[in-house]
Amino acid sequence: MRKRIAILGSTGSIGTTALRVIDGLNSSLVARDSSPGKEGKFEVVALSGHSNIKLLAEQVRRYRPKYVAVSDVDCVEEFRRLIEGLDVKVLAGAEGLTEIAELEQVDTVLAAVVGVAGLHAVLGAVRKGKRVAIANKEPLVIAGQLITAEAKKYGAELLPVDSEHSAIFQAMQAGRHEEVAKIILTTSGGPFRKANPAGIPNASIEQVLAHPVWRMGPKITVDSATMMNKALEIIEARWLFDVPAEKIEVMVHPESIVHSMVEFVDGSVIAQMGSPDMSLPIQYALTYPLRLPGSAKKLQLDRLKTLTFEKPNPQLFPAIEMGFEVAQKGGTAAAVFNAANEAAVEQFLAGRIKFGNIVELVRHCLDNCNVKSNTSLEELLEADAWAKKEVMECLKNHQLR
Ligand code: NAD
Ligand code: MG
Repeated sequence: MRKRIAILGSTGSIGTTALRVIDGLNSSLVARDSSPGKEGKFEVVALSGHSNIKLLAEQVRRYRPKYVAVSDVDCVEEFRRLIEGLDVKVLAGAEGLTEIAELEQVDTVLAAVVGVAGLHAVLGAVRKGKRVAIANKEPLVIAGQLITAEAKKYGAELLPVDSEHSAIFQAMQAGRHEEVAKIILTTSGGPFRKANPAGIPNASIEQVLAHPVWRMGPKITVDSATMMNKALEIIEARWLFDVPAEKIEVMVHPESIVHSMVEFVDGSVIAQMGSPDMSLPIQYALTYPLRLPGSAKKLQLDRLKTLTFEKPNPQLFPAIEMGFEVAQKGGTAAAVFNAANEAAVEQFLAGRIKFGNIVELVRHCLDNCNVKSNTSLEELLEADAWAKKEVMECLKNHQLR
């Protein structure tokens, strides 16, 4: 098993859960192994954080990685003071993040930073032929074609951490690729599943951040309320599993027990179920193909009573249709889509735009962009920069409803 790990974004929701998963795996391995030692354990070789350097320093004290990257260059000096006397190499900025992803001493990279910021590091790890456990969906959305092609070329393994994609990955093992009829992505429906559509555009930050099932970082929590998260996941699935958009479907499943499904050509539907707890997909991406005892709460089937599924209401969640549209278009469309969303979410969380403006801004950018079918990394990054600038232009010119 590959056990030398770098966690990119160790101070976030996925990153901190991953460290707990590693603690759990190590204590159960020690309990089962009569000769506990470093060889038998998962080793945290490198960590990274952005600006929450206090937590990052605590993690360094506890896990003693050999390398740590502080991606916010303004925080590096203070971070060095916090860890004075410790034997750890500190790397700085976006380059530092890529450096730890490419380290020879690392065989598994858990990509858990948020947004496009993880793109170069993910590509770097892929090009070194590592296992990349990928929570950070945005790089796959923007550059899925490139990343999956490079993974094939360099023999890297892409293991999904997103709960839906982990479920699909597990269900896919029940048949061959050509036997897949469709992928059914589930969604809890987020905080506004039952809301009056008229009130949603003016929802407050507090309402938006009150997700009914999952506790996650702020960006993905906003994405779950707009359903941009599901749109991004459609594109993520399209690349991870090499299926066209036409073979992907979305189902609202408020109980969040079935994490997604695969329907095969004979009509058999294979679902993966479990408690809504990210420790399970994180652990599976680290231990695959093995399954080891884990800390996720076990399902009590007799307490579930009902599992319900319904088609999403397109009036309530126009973002989902946009996700299909972008997955079909290909080229630079997804880079524009993702970047417009990242910029709009940032503006919403800063209190500068209304909740309803997020989808409006993304729609505007999609309608006004020049989609290029050639997707070199440079062109994808140009499309990303164009959309972020376009969002700021719209704000400046008061073009919003
Ligand atoms: P988070 O906001 O809790 O954590 C983000 C991490 O990235 C932090 O460690 C932060 O320091 C770091 N970071 C922030 N800005 C950065 C930058 N510019 N450069 C480098 N690092 C930066 O986010 P999260 O909820 O842990 O989500 C991380 C990723 O995983 C996202 O792409 C999200 O969509 C995906 N994901 C999360 C969950 C979840 O349950 N939280 C589930 C599925 C997928
Ligand atoms: Mg998900």
